[in-house]
Amino acid sequence: MPLSVQRRPRRPLRIALPWLVGALPLICGLLIMHWQAERELQSRSESSARHAVNQIERILDDISAAAKELLPLAGRPCLAEKLALRDQVTRRAFVRSTNLEFKGELYCSSLFGPFTEPVNPADYTQGMLWLMSGNSVTPGHPLLVYRIHEGERGAITTVDGEHLLNILRLPDIDSHLVLQVGRYRMDRSGKVQDSQPPIADIAPAALTSTRYPFSIHSGYGPDKVGQLMRSEFPALLALLVILGAIAGVTCFWQLRRAGSSRAELQRAMEANEFVPYFQPVVRGSDYRWAGVEVLMRWQHPREGLVRPDLFIPFAEHSGQIVPMTRQLMQNTARALAPYAELLGEDFHIGINITADHCQDLALYEDCQAFLATFPKGKVHLTLELTERKLVIPTDVTRVLFAKLHELGVMIALDDFGTGQSSLAYLRQFQVDYLKIDQSFVAMIGVDALSLHILDSIIELSSKLGLGIVAEGVENETQRDYLARHNVDFQQGYLFAQPMSARDFILALEEQVRQHNIAS
Ligand code: C2E
Ligand code: CA
Ligand code: CA
Repeated sequence: MPLSVQRRPRRPLRIALPWLVGALPLICGLLIMHWQAERELQSRSESSARHAVNQIERILDDISAAAKELLPLAGRPCLAEKLALRDQVTRRAFVRSTNLEFKGELYCSSLFGPFTEPVNPADYTQGMLWLMSGNSVTPGHPLLVYRIHEGERGAITTVDGEHLLNILRLPDIDSHLVLQVGRYRMDRSGKVQDSQPPIADIAPAALTSTRYPFSIHSGYGPDKVGQLMRSEFPALLALLVILGAIAGVTCFWQLRRAGSSRAELQRAMEANEFVPYFQPVVRGSDYRWAGVEVLMRWQHPREGLVRPDLFIPFAEHSGQIVPMTRQLMQNTARALAPYAELLGEDFHIGINITADHCQDLALYEDCQAFLATFPKGKVHLTLELTERKLVIPTDVTRVLFAKLHELGVMIALDDFGTGQSSLAYLRQFQVDYLKIDQSFVAMIGVDALSLHILDSIIELSSKLGLGIVAEGVENETQRDYLARHNVDFQQGYLFAQPMSARDFILALEEQVRQHNIAS
């Protein structure tokens, strides 16, 4: 039986909770990994675009240098300059063809020599660059055309699309790169299309050249993050799955443990295994039995008699203490009521109640039913509330305590001196008795400071007009000290141990017999 437990969750939550707890590390880990993968891809995408822009600028530097060298020749006879055109093609790595333009006409080409074709400046982005899907020499084969002009003269150089494709397809670049020149774009497939580039699903990046009118768009397809996570973080993924499984199984096991403890208490209640033990409380003046405290014991079929501190904390947390106390009161009434005539006048029966129980109006009915089993006025019922866990004042407690007092039920503040109940608290719940905690009684003749506290409690109770009970009295020194200080009632092993109902009745009968002999 666990002694520290949480309140047990409801059934659907009990089933879902282990899955949720198991999934939590996995979900959190995946979210962090996803975020990290996205950042990684974004940086890769941007650096790919930067790399491609630099490479294409290098190529354009080459073909623009050729065009600049040829520009002064524009307007001169083609046959005279043909060799100069071819010279540029031969000398420069990226130049595929060179051409001269004059008065809006391309009139001389490195390929054909004299040649006539109109030049439309509108084809060129910023009058400078034209991404073509092909020309009359190599239809369907992309090429990039560079044009420089000055008045009526112009020079046009071209670069083969293959060079550009080599950049877009570089093996260490895994993002989808698209070259955009004005309205035209070309991707890794090598097809030139007249449209704007689509925006990539993952890590879209766009970089425009500061020197030439083109831009590079970069990014990845939608499945790229998953791919990266699988390829880059397999160990972390496995660790998350293991962590999730451990968390889920631990949660399941804890719930089952709590569940089985609860079921075990339920079973014990149905089998009526919680039995009352009785410890007499004696009068301070003559040490005659003035009452009894009812202490719960678990008559376990295998473990034997189980002490309350081993199962009551769990029952309090699971909320089962309420029906258990009800059953204990019924069993007490059943055990004592037939022997009511053996109980002296004004016999006190003390029942321990937990603070949460005071939020339940049914306690009033339980007390009523308890008192109804005894002849009217024969016994006084005292509810012992521990000071360690204070009752929270609510509308329910106010009504409950008022009704209990009407019924003649008294309230004792148990373990007094160990908690922090204020005087207001004592007044609010109309406490009738203080039960001095046994730790103070144990200090009689041992510790001067505790003794001062004990004396103060006794003085306080008398000033407040409260009855006082000292518990845990184990020797005569303690008994005599308490008697000298006019403590009303005493309880402890010195007088009697807690005992079963049968032993208690036998002891009562013996007391009555002895009393009869004496008188
Ligand atoms: P408590 O209410 O302070 O009860 C007094 C405890 O002191 C009892 O322990 C009793 O057996 C023990 N005791 C009595 N005389 C002496 C003595 O001279 N010396 C020493 N060392 N101990 C003495 P028990 O029966 O084990 O109960 C322990 C606690 O369990 C109780 O403390 C009470 O807080 C709780 N408890 C017992 N029965 C019930 C119950 O029916 N309902 C609730 N809510 N709590 C209960
Ligand atoms: Ca008590
Ligand atoms: Ca106590």
